[in-house]
Amino acid sequence: MMASSRRAVVWLRRDLRTSDHAALAAATHAFDQVSVAFVFDRYILDALPDRCDHRVCFIHRSLAEIDKFLRQHGSRLVVLFGDPTEEIPRIARQLDVDAVFVGRDYDPYATTRDREVGERLKGQRQRLELVKDIVIREPGELHTQSGGDFRVFTPYSRAWRKQLAPEVDLAEMPIAYAKLAPVEDALPSLEPIETYGFEPTDLWLEPGEAAARKRLAFFEPKMSRYESDRNFPATDGTSGLSVDLRFGTISVRECVRRAQAHGVAGEKWLTEIIWREFYQDILFNHPTVVNHAFKSEYDGLEWPGEESHFQAWCIGQTGYPIVDAAMRCLNATGWMHNRLRMIVASFLTKDLLVDWRKGEHYFAVKLLDFELASNNGGWQWAASTGADSQPYFRIFNPLLQSEKFDEKGEFIRQWIPELAGFDARTIHDPWARNPLEAMGSGYPRPIVDHATQKARALKLLSSVRETPA
Ligand SMILES: Cc1cc2nc3c(=O)[nH]c(=O)nc-3n(C[C@H](O)[C@H](O)[C@H](O)COP(=O)(O)OP(=O)(O)OC[C@H]3O[C@@H](n4cnc5c(N)ncnc54)[C@H](O)[C@@H]3O)c2cc1C
Repeated sequence: MMASSRRAVVWLRRDLRTSDHAALAAATHAFDQVSVAFVFDRYILDALPDRCDHRVCFIHRSLAEIDKFLRQHGSRLVVLFGDPTEEIPRIARQLDVDAVFVGRDYDPYATTRDREVGERLKGQRQRLELVKDIVIREPGELHTQSGGDFRVFTPYSRAWRKQLAPEVDLAEMPIAYAKLAPVEDALPSLEPIETYGFEPTDLWLEPGEAAARKRLAFFEPKMSRYESDRNFPATDGTSGLSVDLRFGTISVRECVRRAQAHGVAGEKWLTEIIWREFYQDILFNHPTVVNHAFKSEYDGLEWPGEESHFQAWCIGQTGYPIVDAAMRCLNATGWMHNRLRMIVASFLTKDLLVDWRKGEHYFAVKLLDFELASNNGGWQWAASTGADSQPYFRIFNPLLQSEKFDEKGEFIRQWIPELAGFDARTIHDPWARNPLEAMGSGYPRPIVDHATQKARALKLLSSVRETPA
């Protein structure tokens, strides 16, 4: 008697691609027939305030590309809408699979959700197979020599590099596409985005795997200049791949392979990818960072910032052109350059004295590449409350940052039309350098004085007694 074919389903989440894909590779290696599913999670979608959310649009268009690819291989994407803890066990039952394969997601919400899905599947005599995909080193995988967790980046990065075994960690995941299974017509397919309660919206970058690969290929020749170019927002000096790493339209293994192929020239860029994993590690080992300062001494600090100042920061009306240009760019595109993220985060916490959690939340709503671990890490770094963060007395001067990193005012000019006609010197500080012209521009006066606020911040932050790391 012939054995019945063994079936599995791959549940896509943060791995929206079809190559070098850990879950697809594992499933097609072990099973005869493999289906692919995605769930539009109502719990996540209902919490989004904007029905034109850039991320939902990015996901939707990336799924369309996957669906097309699967159809070329005799299958198609099954797209569900609802609570994944119900939808996944239901589809697993309908498809009569032995196992559901997923790339492991380490965020607190995802971990709880997956535990529940796993238990429900077990109750149906099916299993959830979690595989490593979104990182090279999983959170909690690396330890200090004394067996503890890392709190400082440099030793973490050293351990990461030391343990890297390229033939194992970076190997491309081979997928047996011939095992992709035909899908019955009755099962739900990808519908227009409106079906999931959202509107299509323009994106500043092309979604999907093909576009992500193009971005990587475009960036590669610039890798050797990354160290010098990466701080200038008007220069296209970084990869722009954070969104792809967030949604898995590119494999992190591929990024690291490419960085390694460039030897020393790829080192600095690789370091940034290790920062991403460092923050995942911090979140995993210290889940309280989600709502609390990593350095707990700072947790009771009362940030005296005013709500009206926070609102001015959100809409790019602080009177500090580099800050306002950055915030307007974020609001319009869902994107902000790393140097600008550092400037606006420092400005909110140390010039406006607003609690970092408010800025973190605002970024979480707006950023196309929003990743809980990196966003929390970045904000706590800027506020000096985090793991290996800036010392509290290091306070960015927004004017000097502006003159250094946007010397000719190109970035400011792009996002603040009121200042488009100002010369390269005046544009950084219009009210001090040409008040008459500033008055006619409609651009606001600075809402605070940097020197005064710096003194207030120093007094506030120095009142906290830090315990040594
Ligand atoms: C306040 C603040 C909030 C941030 N929020 C996020 C966030 O929600 N999501 C996010 O992906 N990054 C976040 N970052 C990190 C960083 O700003 C972005 O990853 C970077 O700007 C993305 O641009 P890129 O892809 O061109 O990066 P590149 O310079 O090309 O770097 C390559 C990759 O390394 C990773 N990376 C780079 N810098 C960092 C960093 N400082 N921390 C962690 N990972 C890094 C990203 O995955 C990035 O795509 C934040 C930084 C700050 C200061």
